[in-house]
Amino acid sequence: MTEAGQQTAAQKETPSKVQTYTAKAYAAQSASSGLAPFTLQRRSPRPQDVEIEILYCGVCHSDLHQVRNEWKEVMPTTYPCVPGHEIVGRVVKAGSAVKKFKEGDIAAVGCMVDSCRVCANCRAGEEQYCDNFLTLTYNGQDKILGGVTYGGYSQSIVVDEAYVLRVSNKLDPAGTAPLLCAGITTFSPLRHWKVGKGQKVGIVGLGGLGHMAVKFAHAFGAHVVLFTTSPNKTADALRLGADEVVVSKNEAEMRKHANSFNFILDAVSAQHDLNAYLQLLKLDGTMTLVGAPEKPAPIAAFNLIMKRRSLAGSAIGGIRETQEMLDFCAEHGITADIEMIRIQQVNEAYERLLKGDVKYRFVIDNASL
Ligand code: NAP
Ligand code: ZN
Ligand code: ZN
Repeated sequence: MTEAGQQTAAQKETPSKVQTYTAKAYAAQSASSGLAPFTLQRRSPRPQDVEIEILYCGVCHSDLHQVRNEWKEVMPTTYPCVPGHEIVGRVVKAGSAVKKFKEGDIAAVGCMVDSCRVCANCRAGEEQYCDNFLTLTYNGQDKILGGVTYGGYSQSIVVDEAYVLRVSNKLDPAGTAPLLCAGITTFSPLRHWKVGKGQKVGIVGLGGLGHMAVKFAHAFGAHVVLFTTSPNKTADALRLGADEVVVSKNEAEMRKHANSFNFILDAVSAQHDLNAYLQLLKLDGTMTLVGAPEKPAPIAAFNLIMKRRSLAGSAIGGIRETQEMLDFCAEHGITADIEMIRIQQVNEAYERLLKGDVKYRFVIDNASL
């Protein structure tokens, strides 16, 4: 049977036939409840599944948007919601058909745990743009158990090996967790728009995504300019690989860079003025949004018309590219700069994220669950 055929058979499995086990987790019960202890059901591994004991899970700003139902127009939240899609752990069971993993291996799971596998985008290895049934790691539709998928703020997860990544033993597992979302979400557009030597590249916002974007753009050989609203992040930005730092509230400093960028990656989580950045692009330059604020942003057409500029967006990355990114990080010694927290501190970490007070990714030690 083809891989796609197996998937169809899996989809037909009735929820009542599936064996499950329980795992401890943290969940939000509503948009305003915060996160608290919760017990969830995981399926027992099928032949193609691996069961992963989660060691670390990064805290992405998307977790906060989703928990608080800030994307209700596009992706309304189903409660209880167990977020977490930057997962690194140890394989504790590998099904009989699993080829890539054995018990004891370090493995990782990102933002998706399945997709249709047959549409043009899935076939092209761009599963994140699946036209049919992309299954997000949390707040997705669980095709096997029914109901909603639960993410990495939990003790374990069971995933088809086709959506599980290998992690080199050269990489520190805790610093690797954020690569599964913050890493791939910035690596993918920098690669797609061919950022490299001889180019001037802007990164907007020094948070989880932004700090990975600075590291990658620097590693790819570009001249990197970091835009920040936090002057106290300047020294860090230079240490992480920025060649210049611009405090974006300073209009005179912004004007100095007018019409000069080949590419700008915007990784800001809240409403801000996109026009100010479009004006910094040179002829045929592109600005790509990865940040996903709650509210839409107005665009002045003339900022695109003048100098034939493009405004684009980009979502995470496919499985093949995520593996490439992890292998690139192992080769170049790249991981995230993290602050480790216990799960009991997660609500406080969300409040700090809202203030831009993160250096530069919170990672949960899942042993604290
Ligand atoms: P984060 O760690 O909270 O970083 C966001 C940064 O944005 C802050 O550190 C701050 O940087 C800047 N910022 C915050 N509020 C701002 C404001 N009002 N005006 C200007 N700048 C502000 O968040 P993250 O986890 O990196 O995520 C960033 C965004 O990307 C979120 O919206 C998230 O949902 C989205 N995301 C998208 C994808 C995708 O596939 N496209 C994947 C993951 C995440 P400074 O202090 O340097 O100004
Ligand atoms: Zn994320
Ligand atoms: Zn598909």
